[in-house]
Amino acid sequence: MKKAWSGNLITQIMVAFAIAIIVGIIAGTSAETVKPLGDLFLRLIKFIIVPLVLASLVTGVSSTGDVRKLGRMGGKTIAYYLVTTALAVILGLIIASLMSPGAGLELKPEEAKVEAKETPGIIDTLLAIIPTNPFAALVQGDMLPIIFFAIFLGIGISLAGEKARTVQLFFEQFAEVMYKITGIVMRFAPIGVFGLVAPIVGKYGLSVLLPLSKVILGVAIGCLLHAAIVYSLSVKLFAGMKPLQFFKGIAPAGMIAFSTSSSSGTLPITIQNVESNLGVSKRVSSFVLPLGATINMDGTALYQGVCALFVAQFYGIDLSFAQLLTIVLTATLASIGTAGVPGAGLIMLTMVLTSVGLPLEGMALIAGVDRILDMFRTSVNVIGDASAAVVVASSEGELEQSVHV
Ligand code: ASP
Repeated sequence: MKKAWSGNLITQIMVAFAIAIIVGIIAGTSAETVKPLGDLFLRLIKFIIVPLVLASLVTGVSSTGDVRKLGRMGGKTIAYYLVTTALAVILGLIIASLMSPGAGLELKPEEAKVEAKETPGIIDTLLAIIPTNPFAALVQGDMLPIIFFAIFLGIGISLAGEKARTVQLFFEQFAEVMYKITGIVMRFAPIGVFGLVAPIVGKYGLSVLLPLSKVILGVAIGCLLHAAIVYSLSVKLFAGMKPLQFFKGIAPAGMIAFSTSSSSGTLPITIQNVESNLGVSKRVSSFVLPLGATINMDGTALYQGVCALFVAQFYGIDLSFAQLLTIVLTATLASIGTAGVPGAGLIMLTMVLTSVGLPLEGMALIAGVDRILDMFRTSVNVIGDASAAVVVASSEGELEQSVHV
């Protein structure tokens, strides 16, 4: 994972991207044949996630040893996540009201069979974070229970001190092994990006995209602005990092997120980029990033803001100020509950629409182009997690400023 190689990787991924677009346009739906290359890469990065998160988080926590320090880091991380997510929804609402993507559209929602998502109560959701069987959580890849288990293992190891030295060493060395495996898998990124992007371009011709181009544009512009304003300012003001350095360092993960539409799937690469390119300590990144990939979704929140207004405009419904506030609140919560997998944000949109009584059929309009919207929002989800890691690391005195991409 040398730095020169990392810069090289960005170029390779970008070239793969460009080739994928050309191949997708020329081959149309037959570009589907290269999809196994994308699936291969997806499987490779997914298989790293659980052991990587477990080993690096246990190591991070056990090396701190101080529960109060951990609580302080947790508090800062969650506060940062909540504030930036709420800002994202507000930005989404502003953009959608300026662009009016749903006004005067002549479209029929195709399938009207959309059901509101049953969201479990807040108490149940919180209780479910504690795994009754941590090994089952590991097997199923349930991220929050895994994080809970890893934090407690880490605390236990540091309390046991010398008596658990072997266990601590085991996790430390296991984490090193997982970092090496991540490095190997990342070499496949350009091929994976090609395999993921070409079929999408082939499938969504202009005819599918045009009627909803304003929604796509709204989400894309919103995502760009959110990153350019909120993340640039926060890494600059709170961590003294040049925004360009930040974006360059996180670019590979951003592009992988764009191609895979999964922030959980991108996690190993996000961790690698944040540590090697941005100089965040392992202790901070191993805590902030897995949590962020699970609960922090600024892009999704922004998208939900744009889509809620789009549906309101499409059906000619005026929303009051109180309803707009409700959207900010529910979209923030819905994005926390959104899993970091493709398409999850669309399902959670039902929660936002229901909260202000908007017709759920509106979702059927968005569903057709959701895959495209997912690409933009997932990149922002991942870049947002990375910005939190930089800000929290700096406030903990664990940001190595000398690291350059
Ligand atoms: N695909 C997004 C992610 O993994 C979640 C969403 O659908 O909004 O971050």
